Amino acid sequence: MKIKVGFGFDVHQLKEGHPFVLGGVQLAHHSGAFGHSDADVLVHAICDAILGAANLGDIGHHFPNTDERWRGISSLVLLTECVRLLDEEGWALGNVDAMLCLEAPKIKPHIPAMKQHIAEAAGVSVADVSIKATTNETMGFVGRQEGVVAYAVCLIERK
Ligand SMILES: [Zn+2]
Repeated sequence: MKIKVGFGFDVHQLKEGHPFVLGGVQLAHHSGAFGHSDADVLVHAICDAILGAANLGDIGHHFPNTDERWRGISSLVLLTECVRLLDEEGWALGNVDAMLCLEAPKIKPHIPAMKQHIAEAAGVSVADVSIKATTNETMGFVGRQEGVVAYAVCLIERK
């Protein structure tokens, strides 16, 4: 097959006083995502989409949260590593389309910087990285600001 599609999903808890990193951007907010790495839910979903497209397993397989190497690391480093794994298998990343779901803070002003960070880490053009955001209309755990969710799809092409 010359092209393949991949899908990724991730969720992290939000906790008071934690840093909140999304797409490599540190957001000024009273709470932030909790996790082993920098808990960048957006980049994690994109990593899983990339790994999934090439049938390479998932992010937990390649970067287990029991491995001290990944503690507090920027998830953009993991993204670069995922694209390297893709390259080893003879695939190149085409484009990425991602969706964030959270109530606050407002994401729109940060989207250009997020696209820039992700494009650089993944070795693609900014034009090939789409990031969108929505709220959960105050419903459920996302609506209560207990967590943040991200979905991503990507296309990969045979080199
Ligand atoms: Zn994650």
